[in-house]
Amino acid sequence: MKFEEFNRYLSKSLDKMDISYTEPKIKKLWLYMNFLLKENKKYNLTSITDKEEIIKKHFLDSLAPLVEVDMDYFDNIIDIGTGPGFPGMIWKIFFPDKRFLLVDSTLKKVKFLKLLSVELDIYDNLEIKHGRAENLANQNKYRETFDLVLSRAVAPLNILSEYTIPFASEKSFLFYFKGPNHEEEIKKSQNAFKKLGGKLEAKLKLNIPSLEADRYLIVYKKTKTTPKNYPRKAGTPKKRPL
Ligand code: SAH
Repeated sequence: MKFEEFNRYLSKSLDKMDISYTEPKIKKLWLYMNFLLKENKKYNLTSITDKEEIIKKHFLDSLAPLVEVDMDYFDNIIDIGTGPGFPGMIWKIFFPDKRFLLVDSTLKKVKFLKLLSVELDIYDNLEIKHGRAENLANQNKYRETFDLVLSRAVAPLNILSEYTIPFASEKSFLFYFKGPNHEEEIKKSQNAFKKLGGKLEAKLKLNIPSLEADRYLIVYKKTKTTPKNYPRKAGTPKKRPL
């Protein structure tokens, strides 16, 4: 695939999705894809290696919610379990002036993201941090300081709620990228959200051209301060979900 073809495919898809872009942003995504594929040969970062699939399942899937979101409300954003940067690094490319913190517990993914930030020449207002959500959320520097929390493909909501809500400041929002089984997850996480201080706000069906899978953005609002005893120690949320 040459840049021209990549550019055509991505621009056409983003037009259909009603998401605005510029050519420099498309160029950065092109560099991103090539760097991801190059590094992925040395160590495993993603199981998706077909270029068209990367564009659809990683890039467009990450960007799909933007048609619904007014980013003017958000300045300080965290992506928990970002992996090789989805959706956090993709959103940073689209909103270079916003502050982003990308968190992952796997060191090689964090190292990849640091190299990627050099490759893409993106440093300002970008922090890439190795650690588990359960530990970072108990540090004053991070606890209840973000006005938007993102997470994709990390854990079911009954566990993910405990990884994410403690980072959200009061009245802020949490965006979870989910598939068709979100209803079941929502039901099973009611108790967790109640304890942690989150309320279901919206379920939005996302439109990603020529993607078979059903994709949804599940939106929660932070309603009260999270009790100090959450998150519990690393590993416990997964072993004993609330
Ligand atoms: N968000 C990316 C990666 C999903 S894979 C995407 O959508 O493609 C899940 C990622 O979450 C992995 O990289 C894993 O290391 C990370 N992860 C799992 N549990 C975590 C925790 N408790 N704290 C921080 N990162 C976690």
